[in-house]
Amino acid sequence: MKENSYCILCSEPAEYEETDNGNRLVIKCDGFCPPYEISLRASKVLQAEPHRKKRMIEVIQFITQADPNEMPVIRMRYQQLIVTTRNLERSVHN
Ligand SMILES: [Zn+2]
Repeated sequence: MKENSYCILCSEPAEYEETDNGNRLVIKCDGFCPPYEISLRASKVLQAEPHRKKRMIEVIQFITQADPNEMPVIRMRYQQLIVTTRNLERSVHN
């Protein structure tokens, strides 16, 4: 999975790193996307609904512009695609 990987959002070459016991990927994109985390379920939804990708890129760029130390997380909540952040997820779970 490490070689010949492409960003799920913009299709530029990207590096994948598995996390959350293989349920999520951290993607480091060579294009304009900041590093982000995405669940496998969310990535499948975006593959099926590619028209939603542009908006996702805008949202994750907005998050990291507001806080460069933050990592956007794209995942499903019930049946909805949502964007949250690592710090927000940690604060909810603690
Ligand atoms: Zn990208």
